Parts: sequence; structure tokens; C-alpha cells
Amino acid sequence: MTEHEDLSHERLKHHFAQRVTHQARQILEIWQRMQTQEWSPAGLAEFSEANLRLLRFAERFDQPEHSELSQATDAVLQQVADNRGRLSSPLITELNRLMQRLSRTGLRHGDQLGHTALPPLRKPIYILLQDHERAQRLSTQLEFFELSAVAFDSPGAFRQAMIERHPAAIVMEVDFAGPNQGLALAEEVQVGLEQKLPLLFFSQHETDTPTRLAAVRAGGQAFLTGTLEVSSLMEKIEVLTCVAQYEPYKVLIIDDSRAQALHTERLLNSAGIITRTLTEPIQTMAELADFQPDLIILDMYMPTCTGTEMAKVIRHNDRYVSVPIIYLSAEDDMDKQLDAMSEGGDDFLTKPIQPRHLITTVRNRAARARHLKARMVRDSLTGLFNHTHILQLLEDCTFRARRENRPLSFAMLDLDHFKRVNDCYGHPMGDRVIKSLALYLKQRLRKTDFIGRYGGEEFAIVMPDTDQESAYNVLNMIRQRFSEIHYPAQPNDLWCSFSAGVVQLHGESDSLKMASQADEALYFAKNNGRNQVQRFTR
Ligand code: GH3
Ligand code: MG
Ligand code: MG
Repeated sequence: MTEHEDLSHERLKHHFAQRVTHQARQILEIWQRMQTQEWSPAGLAEFSEANLRLLRFAERFDQPEHSELSQATDAVLQQVADNRGRLSSPLITELNRLMQRLSRTGLRHGDQLGHTALPPLRKPIYILLQDHERAQRLSTQLEFFELSAVAFDSPGAFRQAMIERHPAAIVMEVDFAGPNQGLALAEEVQVGLEQKLPLLFFSQHETDTPTRLAAVRAGGQAFLTGTLEVSSLMEKIEVLTCVAQYEPYKVLIIDDSRAQALHTERLLNSAGIITRTLTEPIQTMAELADFQPDLIILDMYMPTCTGTEMAKVIRHNDRYVSVPIIYLSAEDDMDKQLDAMSEGGDDFLTKPIQPRHLITTVRNRAARARHLKARMVRDSLTGLFNHTHILQLLEDCTFRARRENRPLSFAMLDLDHFKRVNDCYGHPMGDRVIKSLALYLKQRLRKTDFIGRYGGEEFAIVMPDTDQESAYNVLNMIRQRFSEIHYPAQPNDLWCSFSAGVVQLHGESDSLKMASQADEALYFAKNNGRNQVQRFTR
């Protein structure tokens, strides 16, 4: 083969790989849609057909990971069919696991190879702002995070680029090249495109409803106002360019009547909701810890205790204060219902219940609870998990690692000489460095790792399925790269490093011990000259 043929062969392979990826995205979109409605036979059939198409493409174009995933998906769908179209919690869980894996193929190749591989080069992001210098600064900042970005200063240059290559997303100021001209331009370049590009509008000033409407009509999927911060922009781009990850809702049913519980389970399963049933309320707390449900359905009258008593017991544990509880009972006395609700319940459904009523109530309550929880467990500056929650996650992970006999590592990071950053550049600049490290970690670590802000300029990372050596390697690579980032600042550019300590779960250790051991290793890294990662050694 000549060099030329070799090159075109490579390009052809790349082209086919993209078709496979495109088909995978379609499946994920159908899957995403299924999370918001009942799983009708027609919906399942569409899902199954799309999956078979993926299987054909993947085999023809030699994509082994995609063919393995679509085969496994097909096997699950076959089981559903054998079960007369009836879904069950294990089957929903298995489908979700496969879809999660599918959503990671092609997005982060690094996951298959472990921690060491870098994500693939992505398509660029096109940026069009009135202030061209600002657009260029923004694109430089995005490049710190391995996103390539191109800033344009004229509609002509942008049109030309659009002919040559489609971007991963477009960031367009509403008034680029004249009042409301940005809106028109964004609409124009998308005419005739089969798949609309992720499009994000920006305006420096608060805008009126007609402008927002025009933005929606021009295909805008997000609208940002004020100062365009790299971190908020990154977050939007992440959401727009990745297919969001959906976890099915999990519902714990506590009911002494197995028949009633089974009925409720069937209804919820048919909507893609995962369930577990307890007929012995005494086991509730253990089950809550293990299953971590989004919502609890509680029978009002049981032999060992009443539903309201159980609700009180659940509410006594801080961790479950905000898990919604729905009472299910034949009780139709309004006063009694109200009493029950004031005892820690959130809703009251009377038997016999309309399936759609039950499903809608469960979905809405669970969605709001997740939203609320996401805010409760997160740090507001960085969006990372807060101190309390990252320690809880570490604890959960130690139990899981023991049970499944898998390695688990934990790391603590602390920015070096951070007081000086604040002193020389001001507190807001310090905040920006903290935020950018948070983003950098999110970009660099696996989706299965948990990242927390442990304190002011300290971070904690829980790494399931990772031994100390791999944890050390990935952190050391991140450390090195992070220390090379220069932030444009006055009077001089600013750069920053961090030190870290890592430890692996061993023998009789627990989460508290791991935290103090990682801290000890971090202390050693600081004393040993900073800008380094140290492993804990006993
Ligand atoms: P080293 O860790 O290398 O020993 O030095 P350091 O200067 O980082 O040490 P120390 O932990 O004593 O100081 C941390 C400083 O970080 C103190 C505080 O001013 C700053 N800091 C903590 N939280 C924040 C925050 O949220 N924003 C900003 N801008 N600064 C913070
Ligand atoms: Mg500190
Ligand atoms: Mg520090």
C-alpha cells in the first residue's frame, strides 16, 4: 500500500467509525426519551430496531466494543420478550448499565484503557463575540481544558469555516456583527443541516422576552448573560455535547402484603423504574443504606408498626431527611391522611390507584428530590461534592470494595502556597484558580471517580476499582499538567501547583483511617518540597 492509499484507508475507517457512533447516539436518545414516558411495546420495538442496526453497522465496520454492547443489549431485550414484554428491576438495571457503557464509548476512550490514556481530540468549538480579543482569551482558556476552540472576527470567516468543518458547538453573541445579527447568522449556517448543532447564545446584557424567543427559534439550546465565565461555559458545553447520563429512579416499597407490593412493583417497572420490596419493616434502615432509593412507598397499616411510625424512624437519620415518602393505603378519611402527612410523609395515594397517577407522582417527586439532593451535597463555588458528602461516598465505597473484593484508592490534594496567590492577585483570582482545578479534575478523571472540595483549597478524590499505583500515576500526570497552566493575570501571568497524598484501602482500614493516611502522605509531600504526589507507606 502506498502512503497515500494508507491515508485514505485510515480516513475511510474513521468515516465508518463515525457512522457507528452516530447510530449509538440515536439509541441513547431513544433511551433518554423512554425515561420520561411509559415503556410501551412500540417504544421498546423502536429501541430494539435501532439496536439491531447498531449491531449490523458495528460488525460490518469492525467495531468490537459496539458489537459486544449491542449483542448484550439484544440479549436483554430478548429476555423481556420471553417475559411477555414485562420488565423487571434486574433487566432495567442491566439495560441501564449497557446504555451507560454505550454513552462512554467514543466519548472517553480513556475509560477502556484505565486511567492513563488521554481523551481523544474533540471537534473544535466556534466562538463569535463582539469583542474579538475576549473571544480569543476565552478560546485560550478553553484550551487549558483540552477543548479546542476557534474565535472568529467576521461572519465571512465563520461561514468559510462552517463549510470546511462542523464544530462540536457554537457560542454566539446575540449582537455579533450588529444588533441581533448573531441570531440571524446562527440560523443561516444551520439551514439544511440534518442534525442541528449545539448552539449557545450569549448576551452581555439582560435581554427581553422577544430576543429570547428569537434565540429559541434560531435553534439556541442555552442562553447565557453577564460575563462569560469559562467554567459556566464549559458546563453548558458538556451538557449540550454529551448525551446526558440517566440513572433510572429507585423506589423502595415497604408493605406487609406481598401481593400489593408485587402489584406496585409491576406498575413501576413498566415505566422503567427500579424497585425493591420489604415486607418486614424492621429491616428498613439496612435496606436504605444498601439500596439508596430516590423515594419510599410506605403502607399505612402493617402488623409490626404503622407507616407513620416508620416514617419517623426514617426521618431520624440525617441522611434520609429529604427522601420523599408516599403513603399508600385504602384510607380515604381526609383527616387521617392529613395527619399522616404531617408525620413525615410527602404524599398520600389511596388504593386502588390509577397506574398513571402512581407513575407520575413517583417520577415528579423523585426528580425534585434528586435535584434538591444534588444541591445539598454540592459545594456552590465548584459544583464538586462537599466535605460531608465526599466522606460519606468514601465510606459507601469502602463497603462496596470489601464486598466485591476490588481495590479502592483515596487522594487528598492541597494547592501550594495558596495564600500568596490571594495576597498577590486578590481573592477573586484565587477563587478562579480553585474553580479551574475543579474543572480540570472533572475533565481528567473517570466518570466513576468521585471528586470533592474538602476545604478551602483542598480537594478529595475517591477512586473505585483503582489500586494505589494507578491512582498515583493519574494524579501525578494531572499534577504535572496543571502546574503548566498559565493564567493570564496582572502584573505577571500566574501559575499554581498542588501537592497530593494517595492511599489504598487495606486490611482492617476504614474510611476514617484512609482519610487520615492520605492526609499524612499529603503532609509529607508538602514537607518534601511541594508540587508532588506521595503514596502512603506504613
Ligand atoms: P501550603 O498549602 O503550600 O502549605 O501553603 P498555603 O498558603 O496554601 O497554606 P494554607 O493552607 O495555610 O493556606 C490556605 C489559604 O487558602 C488560606 C486562604 O486564604 C486560602 N483559601 C482558602 N479557601 C479559599 C477560597 O475559597 N478562596 C480563596 N480565594 N482562597 C481561599
Ligand atoms: Mg490548606
Ligand atoms: Mg495550601
